[in-house]
Amino acid sequence: MNPDNIRIVLVNTSHPGNIGAVARAMKNMGLSRLCLVAPRQFPDEQATWRAAGALDVLEQAMVCDTLEEAIADCQFVVGTSARERRIPWPLLDPRQCAGHIAAASSREQVAVLFGREDRGLTNEELKLCNLHLNIPSDSAYSSLNLAMAVQIVCYELRMLQVADDLPVSADQDWDAPFSTVANMERFYEHLEKTLVAIGFLDPQAPRQLMVRLRRLYSRVRLDEMELNILRGILTETAKHVPRDG
Ligand code: SAH
Repeated sequence: MNPDNIRIVLVNTSHPGNIGAVARAMKNMGLSRLCLVAPRQFPDEQATWRAAGALDVLEQAMVCDTLEEAIADCQFVVGTSARERRIPWPLLDPRQCAGHIAAASSREQVAVLFGREDRGLTNEELKLCNLHLNIPSDSAYSSLNLAMAVQIVCYELRMLQVADDLPVSADQDWDAPFSTVANMERFYEHLEKTLVAIGFLDPQAPRQLMVRLRRLYSRVRLDEMELNILRGILTETAKHVPRDG
């Protein structure tokens, strides 16, 4: 496990106090890479106050305008959610997820995404993820405070680190690096364009086709070599599409 390869990403946080509390939760558990996507109020006195002894984490936080920017170079992305979504994604609890995060972090850039206080992460944002993490809270009130959710996830990572019993990744000796979010996004655009061109995807009635394909590829986790092969196939396919007129 390499904590330096794990970033905690807060999307569109409303309350600066929560940002400070997250910085503290992270530092207590030995993590330091905080990334803020379009925070509504930051920097802010309340963030500073709640961070207490974790001011360094707060001061070094990366601030981005978009989520895509924040995770473009990541190869493994976990999205946290308090609710079930319409298209189910692989869903794990924090302990199971920590194993995957720890294993991936020894060679890859990993991001764990946390949503807005009022409405969590959007479906679009959750679609960028390889796994979804849910803290099994009571169904009568399932949504935790943002910083407390971060604390639980960071604690599980901490437990793996102190137990000195880190899970070994099955991908440890893989011969090519796994694709980054940015390259996967370019692939999905290319795929969609090609599926429209060959008449398989009707842009007027796309249904859930692209979401399902995203889920398929994010489950498999393509490496850069495999991604290039698929893009080559798409490019060749496009050459065989008869042009109108
Ligand atoms: N009302 C929102 C909850 C937002 S809570 C919703 O229904 O989605 C703010 C953030 O804390 C969430 O986006 C998520 O990142 C995290 N969080 C809160 N409760 C959680 C839970 N039970 N499991 C996983 N993440 C949770």
